[in-house]
Amino acid sequence: MVLSGTAPPTTTIQPTTTTTTSTATSPGNTTVPTQPGTEIPYGRLVTGCTVSGTVAVTFDDGPYQWTSALIDSLNAANVKATFFMVGKLYGCIYDYASVVQKAHNSGHQIASHTWEHKDLTSLSTADQQSQMTRLETAFKKILGIKPKWVRPPMGAQNSQVLSNLGNMGYKIVTWNFDSQDWNGASVSSSQQRFNALGNDPKIIPLEHDALQSTAQQLGPWLITWAKQRNLKMVTLSECLGEPIPGGQYTNVGGATPRDSSWVC
Ligand SMILES: [Zn+2]
Repeated sequence: MVLSGTAPPTTTIQPTTTTTTSTATSPGNTTVPTQPGTEIPYGRLVTGCTVSGTVAVTFDDGPYQWTSALIDSLNAANVKATFFMVGKLYGCIYDYASVVQKAHNSGHQIASHTWEHKDLTSLSTADQQSQMTRLETAFKKILGIKPKWVRPPMGAQNSQVLSNLGNMGYKIVTWNFDSQDWNGASVSSSQQRFNALGNDPKIIPLEHDALQSTAQQLGPWLITWAKQRNLKMVTLSECLGEPIPGGQYTNVGGATPRDSSWVC
């Protein structure tokens, strides 16, 4: 089984099967090709890459105890990924501040996965905003940036959520390839799914660095898989042709030394 350690109930990371998420598994149906160097507008929902020859591997639900070694594996191969981080789920983001900084300093993209991984479609507008701003505060303290990209927990979104997130300065991304690691799929079964893909699938694969088997086995294996396919493993913004880092972050300054406010 893939779950190990002190993982919370798997229900917290399962994509829902409601109609609000049906677009998440339909490759590319809302991804609008953009001119290279053009930023995706706030409020837009993206599901797949647009730049040929790229793959934007995404890791959700960390930072957690496996994240640091995964970053080391990516760095050793000189490839990039995107981390959709939460404030409080498996661990508390402030307890992994050095891991968050290592990921950012290594050039991996940092994005929001909300503070507590709640289904945004079930929350009021104010509660949705609170889920975003609490994590913004943590990113400001730890990194001095505000991410411009968010992945709604479980991919759950609707027009109200998209509008609200857009008004808060966010672009929204789900995925167009699911390795099913969150659903108990074995590493070999996930690998078979990747191996069955075509030559230039322009995928944004959904992975979870909070799962030990993904961080230690599937993630590192993907580096080799991409190389063999002649695919460049890049950040989300790079696979969309966005300016970097302008498409990724707003620089809000003020990364600060740890103090007593660094708690969940
Ligand atoms: Zn998640």
